[in-house]
Amino acid sequence: MPPTIAVAPCRSLPDYVESIRRVGATPLVLDPGTDDADRVAGRADGLLLTGGGDVDPALYGEPPHAKIAGVDPARDAYELDLIARLRPSGMPVFAICRGLQILNVALGGTLVQDIPTQIAGALPHSLKVPPNQPFTLAHDVWIDKDTVLARAMADRLADTDCKVNSRHHQAVKDVAPGLIVSATAPDGVIEAVEDPKARFCLGVQWHPENFWRTGEFRPLFERFIESCQPTR
Ligand code: MN
Repeated sequence: MPPTIAVAPCRSLPDYVESIRRVGATPLVLDPGTDDADRVAGRADGLLLTGGGDVDPALYGEPPHAKIAGVDPARDAYELDLIARLRPSGMPVFAICRGLQILNVALGGTLVQDIPTQIAGALPHSLKVPPNQPFTLAHDVWIDKDTVLARAMADRLADTDCKVNSRHHQAVKDVAPGLIVSATAPDGVIEAVEDPKARFCLGVQWHPENFWRTGEFRPLFERFIESCQPTR
């Protein structure tokens, strides 16, 4: 039986769904109206947290910055509940872009609310890409050795540098207890975190799902799916 992967709903689902299918798993796009955490635990073997608008800064105790956009309190609450109730049981989690941000907040971390105004000298991370070119590369990331991320990408990379796409204006500020940084951009912006004690709990700030046609980040989905052995 191929594993079933619960996919948090978002506005650009097709690449997430296709990335899951391409590594032999079955995507299950969640309906927040009916798929509470208990139901997800009974139906899915892994959780994919997807991209979207900004996490409500009130959730990490900060007033909103002027550039905050797309806050959706219902989505925040739904995903926080999934993380709180599914992660302790060992369900593997792969968190992308906003997904990484809500994961970090869920575990007690904070966010940079707006990179251009809050980090002097930051690279452009909110790249405007031409239509249908979401895989346009933006900047390097430096992957820390001895991480799940480094091991997953080892066969693809001659070094620990890697080019990624970038469509975010927020990033991890204070890393949540229990997570470690597994990649940074050359300007110091955190680009990936992971829980070294979990079976698989990885968050990346870029969008690996946009590359399913060419496979640059297929190993991340492969490692995720390998960790999602059906136990239901
Ligand atoms: Mn970036």
